[in-house]
Amino acid sequence: MTRDPVAVLHEVFGHTGFRGRQGEVVEHVMAGGSGLVLMPTGGGKSLCFQIPALCREGLAIVVSPLIALMEDQVAALRQQGVAAAALHSELDDAERRDVWRGINEGTLKLLYISPERLGMDGMLERLSQGRIALFAVDEAHCISQWGHHFRPEYRALSFLRSGFPEVPRLALTATADARTVDDIRAQLGLEDAPVFRASFDRANIYLSASPRDQERAQIRAFLREAADGRGAGIVYCGTRARAEQTADWLRADGHDAMPFHAGMPSEDKRDAHRRFARGDAVVMCATIAFGMGIDRPDVRFVAHLSLPQGPEGWYQEIGRAGRDGLPARALLLYGAGDIALARHRIQQSPASEDQKRIERARLDAMVGIAEAGSCRRRVLLRCFGEDLEADCGNCDVCASPPRLYDGSVAAQKLLSAALRTGSRFGLGHLVDVLRGRMTDKIAQFGHDKLPTYGVGKDVPEGAWRGVVRQLVAQGALDIAVENHGELVPTEAARPVMRGEVKVMLRDEVMRPRSQRASREGPQAGSDDPLFGALREWRKAEARSQQVPAYVIFHDATLAEIAARRPENLASLREVPGVGESKLQRYGTAVLAALAEAG
Ligand code: ADP
Ligand code: ZN
Repeated sequence: MTRDPVAVLHEVFGHTGFRGRQGEVVEHVMAGGSGLVLMPTGGGKSLCFQIPALCREGLAIVVSPLIALMEDQVAALRQQGVAAAALHSELDDAERRDVWRGINEGTLKLLYISPERLGMDGMLERLSQGRIALFAVDEAHCISQWGHHFRPEYRALSFLRSGFPEVPRLALTATADARTVDDIRAQLGLEDAPVFRASFDRANIYLSASPRDQERAQIRAFLREAADGRGAGIVYCGTRARAEQTADWLRADGHDAMPFHAGMPSEDKRDAHRRFARGDAVVMCATIAFGMGIDRPDVRFVAHLSLPQGPEGWYQEIGRAGRDGLPARALLLYGAGDIALARHRIQQSPASEDQKRIERARLDAMVGIAEAGSCRRRVLLRCFGEDLEADCGNCDVCASPPRLYDGSVAAQKLLSAALRTGSRFGLGHLVDVLRGRMTDKIAQFGHDKLPTYGVGKDVPEGAWRGVVRQLVAQGALDIAVENHGELVPTEAARPVMRGEVKVMLRDEVMRPRSQRASREGPQAGSDDPLFGALREWRKAEARSQQVPAYVIFHDATLAEIAARRPENLASLREVPGVGESKLQRYGTAVLAALAEAG
């Protein structure tokens, strides 16, 4: 007995239609086909296997790398009235028996399982006593050494191709890097299967990047714009120590902030995950250890305190914001030192030359995004092989286009000062030389006798940092980050010195921060009292069921209910996000909450 996918989409999930390429994927799997789905985080990958799982006969087996991820999806599916379960090491005996009963009796439709468990002796034989509807391999980039989250256990999944040639295999990932994609296809035997590539644009995320000058003030301003201090978000901090420090000062500021990194006891990590999933307005100050398996759709902002290693990782991280389609914000703070440090790390890594070349290219692409002089989203999407037809209108560059001016002369002065002092000094001293100051150090080295002494008085103090950043970005200058931060001109400095290559600076370099345009971020109906009342109701309901708030209803659904003010179950049923199961469970309570809030 098979069911109609569109009917299931409507009745079970409450959605009005398929999104992007979901419809195609579902049709393909329904017909028994295998394939690879490439969609950005939040693009809607889950439905691509969940709908065929419900429509095809038998049990769908979903391979997933993290317990937290499995639990979230299972909780959400159960809310929708779907027979789903996860099999993992944290179940007690009774729970495990329940799951197996569901499998053996054929009542279970979706089973989430980790790759190592699926690969255990005898597991597949037991699972395949009944019919298998499909295999879905979520976060499939974990199978590839080229991806940035390689998990050796995923390698074992290649047995799926030989063991069950007749069962559809659907691999899903948000990583579009060509090498990774080839690797996934080879490992899972999908060489001849279609690749469903969706647009990687996440238009609702406002993109912004800025040189890091006053980190705390910049983060404060960002939190105000992003969520009015109320929504949940993630601040990626680079190191464990910075994650702790950042959480500390944000807490002192009155935010519900907490650190998250791999060095914390696993109990604390689980707690943090739980609080985040529960729907609290927490600011997670994290290393990249936090994120995989974060399904929460109403993350309103993601900030980075330093330059990520490449566009794929960055996009995946900021893609955790705004999965519900409502406005969300991303901010990237970076400095010339980040770029230099990343280059040194690549240089010194034991990786092969080939691998280093790839990493350098990734880093350069990332620098290009950070330093974008035109629509930042266009620059970003080009990294994924996608060309936007027009500027996006939802990034900081579109919002206030920087004026570029020719900073070549200032750049030449700086390079010259560095060279004439033997490439042995950092920015502070060089600026003293350029501005013609008399310090002990200048007297000691006789730098007041240099021809460059005092030639840079016309450039404001703070602007020199912008000159350095631009030169480092262009590769004309290196910073000895593992030494004392000396500025060292490279080969590429020569054409700049000779005036053959221009150095363009953004006008923000010359203008004080306070004069720059700021933009108000749109809000998700957050000051509507009806919306507030519905959220309160949801919070209580979530608490009593001990499930994450969003598995009851998403913010987007609550906002839509508040806007439409349905007066009966029939009109509530029309709201996107309200399926049969949820209508039965919550319909009356929602109508009551609406009536009460007046
Ligand atoms: P991914 O796994 O690709 O990161 P999800 O499957 O978690 O994305 O989906 C992201 C969000 O989009 C979820 O909140 C989901 O409910 C919503 N969504 C997915 N498909 C649709 C659709 N066809 N119509 C409306 N909302 C959808
Ligand atoms: Zn733009």
